[in-house]
Amino acid sequence: MSDCFILLSANKKIKNVSYKNIDVIKGGTERHNSTQNALNYLKNKKIKNVFIHDAARPNLSIKLLHRLKKELKKNNAVVPYLKSENSVKYKIKNKINNLDRNKILLTQTPQCFNFQELFNLYKSNKEKITDEASLYLRKNEDLNYLKSNTYYGIGFDIHRLIKNKKLFLGGVKIPFHSGLKGHSDGDVILHAIIDGLLGAMRKSDIGTLFPSNSNKFKNIKSKNMLKPVVNLLNDNNFFINNIDINLICENPKVSKIKGKIIKSLSDLLFIDRSLINLKGKTVEKLGIIGKEQAIACEVICSISK
Ligand code: ZN
Repeated sequence: MSDCFILLSANKKIKNVSYKNIDVIKGGTERHNSTQNALNYLKNKKIKNVFIHDAARPNLSIKLLHRLKKELKKNNAVVPYLKSENSVKYKIKNKINNLDRNKILLTQTPQCFNFQELFNLYKSNKEKITDEASLYLRKNEDLNYLKSNTYYGIGFDIHRLIKNKKLFLGGVKIPFHSGLKGHSDGDVILHAIIDGLLGAMRKSDIGTLFPSNSNKFKNIKSKNMLKPVVNLLNDNNFFINNIDINLICENPKVSKIKGKIIKSLSDLLFIDRSLINLKGKTVEKLGIIGKEQAIACEVICSISK
């Protein structure tokens, strides 16, 4: 039985291998395919632990190997890392965000694992991975995500419809006989979303952020009220999981304006359209909403850290 395996790219051959205790296994097109081949090869050989290293970094220290082996006695996976000396940003749609350099870990090889656990993770994984540590992190992320880092917020808003005002819904100007009365443009969808997001972040409400008795915010566009809330999400490392919206009105017909509103919200919130759902509700001509004298909106937002 060999102690070491060399994985080759699918089309490459190695000449004159005469080292003791080295086996050559055919690799795959990507790193994870090659590793999978090696794990399959080892499947029935009663292996307890495996070390995985890149041939591109040949000068590994034996001292590091000993340290990893020692740590592996107490853990199922051990991965060396370096702290980042560079400032790192990430991009979602066209927005650039900062990552805290002190929280960045650059994972290195060799990485070592309990064989059976790594084998099982590989077997259940369907996605492309760049290193084996990501399999463990993904598993834990899934667990943590379900456990504690998801928050929900609810938002509701209603504005009266008045003549001679433009109607704005979800940041879109909608042709209609009236517009929504208010200190701002009266956009009930954006106001309900703002309250939902603030609620999920547990940061008070829209009225505290933009007091209606303050002249500073008179005639403010609701888009500009949403901006600081999106910044607050980013600054606190939150991302939006999904937003579900009920727009409650007799007219305009929501089915006709839905596409435009979802596109606008996706641009304003920097999230994919598939994360936004907009439903239209009529009220059987009841009350002021039924008489087309008001429009209301309710929203639920889910965010995670
Ligand atoms: Zn409002």
